[in-house]
Amino acid sequence: MLGLDEGTHEMLATPRREVHVAVPLRRDDGTSVLFRGYRVQHNVSRGPGKGGLRYHPSVDIDEVRALAMWMTWKCAVVDLPYGGAKGGVTIDPREHSERELERVTRRYTSEIKPIIGPERDVMAPDMGTNEQTMAWVMDTYSVSEGYTIPGVVTGKPIAVGGSLGRATATSRGVVHTAKAALNEAGVDVVGASIAIQGFGKVGSHAAAIFAEEGARVVAVSDQYGGVVNRDGLDVDALFTHVAATGTVVGFEEADEISNHGLLGLEVDVLVPAAVEGVLDEITAQQVRARFVVEGANGPTTGEGDTILAKNGVVVVPDVLANAGGVVVSYFEWVQANQAYWWTEPEISERLEHRMHSAYADVSALARREDVSLRDAALAIGVQRVAEAHEIRGLYP
Ligand code: GLU
Repeated sequence: MLGLDEGTHEMLATPRREVHVAVPLRRDDGTSVLFRGYRVQHNVSRGPGKGGLRYHPSVDIDEVRALAMWMTWKCAVVDLPYGGAKGGVTIDPREHSERELERVTRRYTSEIKPIIGPERDVMAPDMGTNEQTMAWVMDTYSVSEGYTIPGVVTGKPIAVGGSLGRATATSRGVVHTAKAALNEAGVDVVGASIAIQGFGKVGSHAAAIFAEEGARVVAVSDQYGGVVNRDGLDVDALFTHVAATGTVVGFEEADEISNHGLLGLEVDVLVPAAVEGVLDEITAQQVRARFVVEGANGPTTGEGDTILAKNGVVVVPDVLANAGGVVVSYFEWVQANQAYWWTEPEISERLEHRMHSAYADVSALARREDVSLRDAALAIGVQRVAEAHEIRGLYP
C-alpha cells in the first residue's frame, strides 16, 4: 500500500535493539531462582523508545518483539514523538510476595539500565505490573544516577510525579474510539450493549466508563470465568464484588458464562481486553458483535481478522483503540520533564482530542482507500516512521 522499498521494509520489520538479561531472585525463604528478562527497542526514529513492562509466565522474546513493534505503530498513529519498545520478565507475579516482586523489579531495572532513561527509553505498566512497579523502577534508576529522574517511567503513582487520569486513560481511549465507530454507523452509545473480556486495568475501567456513558455492559470476564446479564450488569456492585473476592465469578444477579462464550454474544460492541490471539480462525467465526474494539494488544490473529472482515464486523484495531494509555503516558512524561502539572480536565480534554483526531485520520484513509481500519491505522503509523527514517538518512 505504501510502496516502501525492500530495504526500508526489512528495517521496519526488524527490532533495532534487544537486551536479554538474567534476573536472579533471592526468595523470601532464602532459596534463589532465576528468571529471564528482555527489553526490546523496536524503533527509535521518532524519539525515545516507549512501552510497557510485562510480568507473565508466557513472556518470551518473540512476544516482547511483537509488543515492541505494536508500540512503534501505536505511538506513530496518535503522533507521539516516540519510538516503540517493550519489556518483559517470564514470571507469574501471583506466585510472589510484594517483597520478591520489588527485588525482581530492581534487579531487572539495574540489568537493563544502560539502554533506558527519559531520553532513551521510557517504561510504563503492562500486564502483571502496576504503579508500584513503576515507582521501584524509577527509584532504582534515580538512586543509581544520584538524583530523582521521574521521566524514566510513566504510569507511576501521583505522589512521585504520576499524572492525573493515567490509570483510566487506556479505558477512556477505548470508549472514545468505540463511540466514534458507533457514531459513524449511526448507533447511539446510550443503550448500546457491550461485552468485555478481561477485568484488569483496561477492561474494568472500560466497563465503568461505558456504563457512565449510558451503555449497557451485559457481560464481563476475567481469567477465572465470566458473568452475563442481558439487562445490563450493575458495574458499581461488580467492582465491590471483585474487591471482596478477587474475581467477577460468583457475582449475583448474573448468569455464568465462559470466556469463550462471551466472545460469541450478540452485542453491539465486543471489547477483548485481556491476552493476545483470542479471536482466531475458530472463535472469530462465532463473533456476533457489530464492532470489535481491541483493548488488548494483538487480540485478533491474522486469520481471525480476515474472518471478521468477511462477516462485516468493524474492528477498531489495538494500535488505535488502546492508545489512550500511551497518550497520557506522553502527557505524564511532558509534565515530569517540565515539572509542571496539569489539571484532570486539561488531561481528559487533550486525550479526547487526540483520540478523536487519530480516529478521524484513520477512518478517512480507510474510506478513501477502501481498506479496513486496521490497514489504515498501520499505514499511517508505518508511513510516519518510514518518513522519519528517510528524512534522517542512513548513518554512516
Ligand atoms: N502498556 C501500555 C500499552 O501497551 C502502555 C504503554 C505506555 O504507556 O508506554 O500501550
